Amino acid sequence: MPDTAAGPTVAVDDQSIAAAGEVVGFIDLGTNSVRLLLVRILTDHAVETITEQKEMVRLGDNVYGDKVLRPDAMDRALSVCREFAELARGTAADVDAAVRAARAASQGNWGRMAAADRGRLLRRWADAVEAHRDELAQIESQDTGKPLKQARADAAALARYFEFYAGAADKLHGQTIPYAEGYTVLTLREPHGVTGHIIPWNYPMQIFGRSVGAALAAGNACVVKPAEDACLSLLRVASLAASVGFPPGVLNIVTGLGAEAGQALADHPGIDHLSFTGSPDTGRRVAIAAAAHHCPVTLELGGKSPQIVFDDADLDAALPVLVNAIIQNAGQTCSAGSRVLVAAPLYETVLERLAERFAALRAGPASMDLDLGPLINRRQQQRVWDFLSDAQADGVPLAAQGEIVDDAPAEGCYQAPVLLRDVPADHRLWQDEVFGPVLAVRPFDDEDEAVASANGTKYGLVAGVWTRDGARQLRLARRLEAGQVFVNNYGAGGGVELPFGGVKASGHGREKGFEALYAFTRLKTVALRHG
Ligand code: NAD
Repeated sequence: MPDTAAGPTVAVDDQSIAAAGEVVGFIDLGTNSVRLLLVRILTDHAVETITEQKEMVRLGDNVYGDKVLRPDAMDRALSVCREFAELARGTAADVDAAVRAARAASQGNWGRMAAADRGRLLRRWADAVEAHRDELAQIESQDTGKPLKQARADAAALARYFEFYAGAADKLHGQTIPYAEGYTVLTLREPHGVTGHIIPWNYPMQIFGRSVGAALAAGNACVVKPAEDACLSLLRVASLAASVGFPPGVLNIVTGLGAEAGQALADHPGIDHLSFTGSPDTGRRVAIAAAAHHCPVTLELGGKSPQIVFDDADLDAALPVLVNAIIQNAGQTCSAGSRVLVAAPLYETVLERLAERFAALRAGPASMDLDLGPLINRRQQQRVWDFLSDAQADGVPLAAQGEIVDDAPAEGCYQAPVLLRDVPADHRLWQDEVFGPVLAVRPFDDEDEAVASANGTKYGLVAGVWTRDGARQLRLARRLEAGQVFVNNYGAGGGVELPFGGVKASGHGREKGFEALYAFTRLKTVALRHG
């Protein structure tokens, strides 16, 4: 392992890289299939999240060897919010190189490859992910702090995305359109060419899978900017792509800072479609940058998703789901069920039963595999604290909270889950995304009030309805302003096949399912006049 302080060295042969200052390394991984760019991040922000530990990430078969993710580093990482790895700081020039590599691939072998063969490659990638599931789960857990069971589920979902899109690659058809006498009109679904993907830190593998899996199946070549807070799993997943034989330039990962590498990707005129998942503010910035070169965007920007519990609901079924929807990934989930509306006659019963469950929840190091791991970083922890101190100052009643286990290092970014009742509809806790394990509850008197309250935020990602009344189920499914509505369940276990995306400030465009394939293609109409 080279000394990171000794100056720039890039050793492609043994697939390792050391960097000092702003060195960039292109790693070819033997087949040159995947280009990974690594340099150090040296800004104030990175110092906040990635400090002290001077080991380098290694590439190749030993990418995540003992040098970086050794067990004591893991504990330390969790205790100080992942301060355990140094990462590449990609620049605009690196993004440009990646886009050029992707363009060459899309105009070369990859662009000419039969859809069925693209599907076969994706299928092999799915198998490779499945074969490395434990390793990927370890990496994801260590990098993000999420409990291992969640990381395992994420790795399984990643494989499932690749599997789904492998099977779909050769089933993306155009149409023929009845037109005037003497014409035959048809539509062709063509890949955009080079697609950009900006990925957040909360579910790196899942969000990469749904976005990149669909884009590749549709025949695009991809440039990916993972989040600076969590990107190790994606580097490993990319090296698996190389090992199963994706051609050169098809998949390019540029790690780095959002304001640099991310902004450069959004600004780049060579990007033909951009998929962004993250905060509304950054999403707006990215969309404006993309508009400057007429690049279509898919935006997935989070939410303040409500679940409505009617007085005929099956509470035994609803309660564990209500709790899990807010504590999963420590509440750092775009589709977290962060608001619950309860029919007035059931209000006290539901609160009592929720409180019982909240009081039993435990947060601690990811390696302990408890209900919640730590939050991603100090900034996120401070954000949650700000919401909670506002609640306290405004007299919002605390109904219950879980605990942080004694073994959790005091300096860690842990947050016990919090249950707040009677939250006023105009309070920021009812209106704004906390992105932490904080559940806001309030009562309602009738259906109209419930719908108005559920729809009464700027967001519209997901909504849940708990009722046995069939007519009400259908009415609510139509009346709720959300990209997905779940009836007597929430999230449907992830649902790779189910189109996903928001309305209003939650974004636009759809990922997952076949809809994503449509988004990652452009439609060409061909009119043939033959008399
Ligand atoms: P963010 O939006 O800043 O970051 C998401 C991604 O965008 C990262 O890869 C980041 O590097 C990149 N990025 C940042 N600035 C960019 C720019 N100018 N141009 C292009 N790309 C850029 O999110 P964050 O700061 O990591 O988290 C802040 C808040 O975002 C959270 O509190 C949460 O509310 C929200 N969030 C939502 C989701 C989601 O799934 N919808 C995921 C993560 C975060």
